[in-house]
Amino acid sequence: MNDIVADPDDGLAEIREEVRKLCARFPGEYWRKLDAERGYPTEFVQALTEAGYLSVLIPEEYGGSGLGLSAAAAILETVQAEGCNGAACHAQMYIMGTILRHGSDEQKRRYLPKIASGELRLQAFGVTEPTSGTDTPSLRTTARREGDTYVINGQKIWTSRAEHSDLMLLLARTTPKNQVAKKTDGLSTFIVDMREALGNGLAIRPIRSMMNHNSCEVFFDGLKVPAESLLGQEGRGFRYILDGMNAERLLIAAECIGDAKWFTSKSVAYAKDRVVFGRPIGQNQGVQFPIARAYAQMRAAELMVQEGCRLFEAGKTPGEQANMAKMLAAEASWAAAEACVQTHGGFGFAEEYDVERKFRETRLYQVAPISTNLILAYLSEHVLGLPRSY
Ligand SMILES: Cc1cc2nc3c(=O)[nH]c(=O)nc-3n(C[C@H](O)[C@H](O)[C@H](O)COP(=O)(O)OP(=O)(O)OC[C@H]3O[C@@H](n4cnc5c(N)ncnc54)[C@H](O)[C@@H]3O)c2cc1C
Repeated sequence: MNDIVADPDDGLAEIREEVRKLCARFPGEYWRKLDAERGYPTEFVQALTEAGYLSVLIPEEYGGSGLGLSAAAAILETVQAEGCNGAACHAQMYIMGTILRHGSDEQKRRYLPKIASGELRLQAFGVTEPTSGTDTPSLRTTARREGDTYVINGQKIWTSRAEHSDLMLLLARTTPKNQVAKKTDGLSTFIVDMREALGNGLAIRPIRSMMNHNSCEVFFDGLKVPAESLLGQEGRGFRYILDGMNAERLLIAAECIGDAKWFTSKSVAYAKDRVVFGRPIGQNQGVQFPIARAYAQMRAAELMVQEGCRLFEAGKTPGEQANMAKMLAAEASWAAAEACVQTHGGFGFAEEYDVERKFRETRLYQVAPISTNLILAYLSEHVLGLPRSY
């Protein structure tokens, strides 16, 4: 248990404790070094894989442990709360759901056990494109059927971990937008084996970004993939991707809760320890209140994550709760990050405190995988029934 921010009473104490022990092997110096060189935490991801944490959502019959979303959320939350970074591998937890729900029996048997064992890495999720952005149905990457193959042309951007994944879940247009009744029709999902594709129509270029996220541009130039790479039915891919989004939002929200806990623990410890004007800075309410406010925001968001997971595990579609959880948790982690930098004064900017690194890392979650505005638009239009804005 974190000695400053207590765990919720959710029956997952054991799993949190085990994840904590694993994370203790990957201290701040490990992440700082990787951050400086924009390296990938291979050993960390391997340790999580070997311990079975990345396959908790894969059913037992396919080699996973078949646990619920709340267990996955507790794992990612703990990883973040311990100062590690689950962004290196979190996607595997939620994108494999697309294979599970929409793949054929053959595809499930071929991929899921190997993903569970770590033999195959499914970390790359190719949706976003440079020209269409959040307007996913306007994406331009095409997959054209030619006999037993699909030929893929186009470009993705921000495809995280593309260099550290064997498989990519790809969304591409199979029927032109002007030939479908709804613009969300005519898109299809593929499971692309990148090991065979690299250099044969697939090229990857890393993007150096604000934090170490291993994001890339991915180029498709006449890439041929076997027709059996198609997941589910042709033309229904957008729905398949949407199906996975509630799990994705809840897991990212759990990571933000973990970040907020890390920042709060750091803030409290430092505020008690640092003496200026002859007393601990934490004795000043001007220092206490931003920390306390962010803590309250985090606890409220945490309840929304729990509620979203509960509904998800009960077989419901918690679009409202997952979106609210993601927005509230990302705002809470940002508030806690801001308070943490302010509490640390100049030392908040020194790399060796890890505060500035985590500050950069947690900022992402108000933009990706979905920006706050788009969540507000979802709530306005789909929950509150206000007129559509786009
Ligand atoms: C580090 C990083 C990792 C990522 N990893 C992946 C990945 O692995 N796979 C993947 O597919 N994508 C990934 N993304 C992409 C990410 O999902 C998008 O950046 C995000 O969805 C926003 O899209 P955009 O950047 O195109 O912004 P845009 O769509 O161009 O939007 C820019 C701004 O305008 C606002 N906006 C746009 N339209 C509206 C509107 N109608 N109303 C109000 N506001 C609006 C948005 O909220 C946003 O703030 C990643 C991004 C980053 C930065």
